[in-house]
Amino acid sequence: MATATELLLTPLSEVKGISPAWAELMAKLDLRSARDVLFNFPRRYLDLSDVRPIAELEPDKPFSVRGTVLDVDARETRRGAVVGVLITDNGQNLRGIWFNQPFMLRKFARGQQVMLSGKARKKAGLWEMSHPRVQVLEDAEDSSGAAILPIYSLSEGVGQGQVRYVTRAVLEQFGEVLEEVFPAEYLTQHNLLPIREAIPAIHFPVDNAALAAARRRLVYQELLILQLALAIKRAQQRHGVPAPMLEATARIDARIRRLLPFELTAGQEQAIREISGDLALSTPMSRLLEGDVGSGKTVVALYAMLVAAAHGQQAALMAPTEILARQHAATLERLLAASQVRRALLLGGMPAAQRAELLQEITAGEVQLVVGTQAILQEDVRFAKLGLVVIDEQHKFGVRQRATLRGGDAAPHYLVMSATPIPRSLAMTQFGDLDLSVIQDAPPGRQPVRTYWAKEEQRDKWWQFFTRKLNEGRQGYVIVPLVEESAASGLTSLNEAFESLANGPLEAFRLGLVHGRLNQAAKDAAIEAFRAGRTQVLIATSVVEVGVDVPNATLMTIEGADHFGLAQLHQLRGRISRGAFPGYCTAFTLSESDDVKERIEAFVSTTDGFRLAELDFALRGPGHLLGTQQSGVPPLLIADLERDREILNEARRDAQALIEHDPGLSDVNFARIRKMVLQRFGHALELADVG
Ligand code: ADP
Ligand code: MG
Repeated sequence: MATATELLLTPLSEVKGISPAWAELMAKLDLRSARDVLFNFPRRYLDLSDVRPIAELEPDKPFSVRGTVLDVDARETRRGAVVGVLITDNGQNLRGIWFNQPFMLRKFARGQQVMLSGKARKKAGLWEMSHPRVQVLEDAEDSSGAAILPIYSLSEGVGQGQVRYVTRAVLEQFGEVLEEVFPAEYLTQHNLLPIREAIPAIHFPVDNAALAAARRRLVYQELLILQLALAIKRAQQRHGVPAPMLEATARIDARIRRLLPFELTAGQEQAIREISGDLALSTPMSRLLEGDVGSGKTVVALYAMLVAAAHGQQAALMAPTEILARQHAATLERLLAASQVRRALLLGGMPAAQRAELLQEITAGEVQLVVGTQAILQEDVRFAKLGLVVIDEQHKFGVRQRATLRGGDAAPHYLVMSATPIPRSLAMTQFGDLDLSVIQDAPPGRQPVRTYWAKEEQRDKWWQFFTRKLNEGRQGYVIVPLVEESAASGLTSLNEAFESLANGPLEAFRLGLVHGRLNQAAKDAAIEAFRAGRTQVLIATSVVEVGVDVPNATLMTIEGADHFGLAQLHQLRGRISRGAFPGYCTAFTLSESDDVKERIEAFVSTTDGFRLAELDFALRGPGHLLGTQQSGVPPLLIADLERDREILNEARRDAQALIEHDPGLSDVNFARIRKMVLQRFGHALELADVG
């Protein structure tokens, strides 16, 4: 006897009613086994269950109508054969039309009762449905043809009808093979449909209530499994190798504060309290520090690093780019000018001898604070007593890499900083194994940035304004998108932009240029010249997106803004809200598609990063917020974090309660669930095998 799992792996070509040719078609959609088909959830539905009199139709919305066939006709047009059928219902008429389906002619006869389903539109005063679904009714009362139809993802040469047919065939043969993963009483307690009801209903729901119940069951299961994985991860951190206890005593606290040139904001104070609470424990801290661009996360991280140093421990701060790493190092130098704490900068391209010496000092524990790029992750970088790891702009390199720093017998505390405010629901899934601190406020005296979306005709006026502000002593950026930063053609377009500005509107000013393909020294020189005011305008690619901190720069022109995502635009704009003067940002776009319009209008509408992140999330889904490298957590198949917030909260609570009672999820009733958790997330979350 084959097990259920084995049965579900039956290739589609061996399913009754599915021909080898159709099995091959399904392979284009990555559907190869019965299981693949059962769990290939519809992308959306066409709701034809709403049957209305013709008089009550609304344009472009799916409805079903019933009527008597008045007339059927066929004619040839330039676009091919058109079949039309005219039906009537209470004195109102509607016409159904089909292109290139001459066989439709045979389907109808005058006087027949039919139901047509689809989206109708009024053409010359007459309602018309193009390619409606047809049901010939046996008697006038029958409306069983009305349905909620699944819409699946397709690829070329595969039609909805084919996927629906195959899905029905698989359901018929394998619907009863599906095994329940939850104990029966768990289903009842949590108001969940059994899987053998949920799977058929997610594909072919009889009505909206059935669909909602099926979705709830499947969304809950998906989110519970993710939340269980995260809860297990946390439990393992808690019970794994202990971290050094680093209490921020009153003396340590006072010593650190003396170094700070400003009062901390309430948000910074709160974050520091939360972090200090974690550091004092032997459970390694795993905390995400979120705050908008310019909210002052660096000094919070620095505080934590100095607490570690005060306890004789080492701390590492890892940044995604060299520019940013250097800037953090410079900040450290400024603040620690009067301090004994030894610090160093570790970058990729260091001369071998210098690097070897530095590594030796790190290994000997002589250097306490190490700032660097991914170079810190190299195999040969070994710390003597690594107490704290801070990762800035984590989403840029993928969350899970943080596990790979080496050093000491204890586990280090982890602090992750994100300048992309992540909506709570997303944080709960992608970073659900981290505690969250959020800085909501900004340092005092921040000036607003006014943002405009300008048309080509307004270009001259904008440059007049831009140059007037330059003459008043301000500085500015011109951001030029490079679609392919590494390609020579990209560079040409940047150089051209530079030339046309240098010989055009910015002729009278000192210009600098910086982009990703310059060598490090040239990049540094360009940014340093700008910081020092030797250049007035920095023409740059998005390399200045993160970190570059020049308070006197208050102007920004963004060319080709359509090439940037919302989060990235916001980061760029963050460069000009750092000082005592108001900022002005103008975006130019090459196109005006709906997508561009939505994004740029959102960008112009607010400078609140949290609000923008929510908008970005709603517009484009989670992938964009987290960057292409993502977090390594597999994507959700059915849950929608916006729409399913409540189920998410519920699944999270349930998962935490389960793991609290049973950290290894070893209860036999949950054996199947546990297996699913490990299969799906074991690798991504580096879960040690539980039990
Ligand atoms: P981000 O959160 O974007 O990393 P930074 O840490 O770079 O922000 O801080 C932005 C700027 O604000 C820096 O120049 C920093 O020195 C300054 N800053 C941070 N905190 C305060 C504060 N409490 N008061 C005044 N200025 C501050
Ligand atoms: Mg920062």
